[in-house]
Amino acid sequence: MKLTDSLGRTINYLRLSVTDRCNMRCSYCMPAHGVSKMCHDDILRYEELQQIAEAAVSIGIEKVRITGGEPLVRAGIVDFLAGLAEIRGLRHLALSTNGVLLKRMAADLRTAGVQSLNVSLDSLKREVFSAVTRGGDLDMVLAGLDTAEKVGFPAPKINMVVMRGVNDAEILDFAELTISRGNSVRFIEYMPVIKESGWQHYCVPGEEILQRIATRHLLVNVDKGAFAGPSRDFRIPGARGTIGIITAVSGHFCGECNRIRVTSDGKGKGCLFSDEKTDLLHCLRPLDRLKLRRTLRDIVMAKPERHNISFTGYEHENFTMAQIGG
Ligand code: SAM
Ligand code: SF4
Repeated sequence: MKLTDSLGRTINYLRLSVTDRCNMRCSYCMPAHGVSKMCHDDILRYEELQQIAEAAVSIGIEKVRITGGEPLVRAGIVDFLAGLAEIRGLRHLALSTNGVLLKRMAADLRTAGVQSLNVSLDSLKREVFSAVTRGGDLDMVLAGLDTAEKVGFPAPKINMVVMRGVNDAEILDFAELTISRGNSVRFIEYMPVIKESGWQHYCVPGEEILQRIATRHLLVNVDKGAFAGPSRDFRIPGARGTIGIITAVSGHFCGECNRIRVTSDGKGKGCLFSDEKTDLLHCLRPLDRLKLRRTLRDIVMAKPERHNISFTGYEHENFTMAQIGG
């Protein structure tokens, strides 16, 4: 069954956040101090998250990505993923992680039925990586990437948030990972989530990223797969991995948006940058499957045409990506 929104866009992808907690503190995602954590009772229980995923698949969602915060820090995550993998009609189960716990957990994740991994990695230089993540250990993430492939995952997709003056000097190095390591790399424009003045300085437009790669490499367009979202994809001829550009700020990709989101406290969102949230708790406590399906469909139908971010500003309320799930 094909799920379409009021504008005719196919919606086949749910990003489901299981926690707002994280074992890193990336500068672009969270402030250094003063992040209010969700109260334990507000976080959805695994059976409630499973009910949401089942309802979403029953109305036409085909791909579910588990995200956070850092999903691998939540106790019991592997069993939860194994339950999701058994949902009939779910065609793709994916997980986003910062990679810190991947070396230890990759084999269990694979056995549980996770089909693909996205790993955040913003620098290949230890000091820069540690500064961006406020203390993260680059070697642990690289070891996690290696282990994931050893246990049978396809090469994880690497997500790099490009920040001018921080890691933009590494754009070519990351592009060349598609040749040397064979991972696909997605360059993400820095998005303003917390009202901070001067954020535009950090944001390197996608076109500039492409031009910098093109100074050394030919880039050919790549057809996108079944669940491809709003990235524009290219390949350096001969490279195993592809290069994707996500232009959330400089170019609106909203016409290609195929997703809805649910936060770990049960708020459904049709757009990352809209303040519209639909509370799903009234369908879960107590469980009313019909109402849950209807409410998810309403979120799809109410998806806005586009978000309101541009280099001149934005209108959404403050949030951290860890609260929504990116
Ligand atoms: N902890 C996991 C991780 O880091 O992959 C999953 C959650 S994280 C919030 C999901 C994605 O959001 C990551 O790829 C991260 O790079 C991205 N993200 C967070 N803040 C961002 C920002 N200000 N601009 C662009 N992307 C951002
Ligand atoms: Fe944690 Fe991921 Fe946010 Fe970094 S981007 S602070 S790893 S949730």
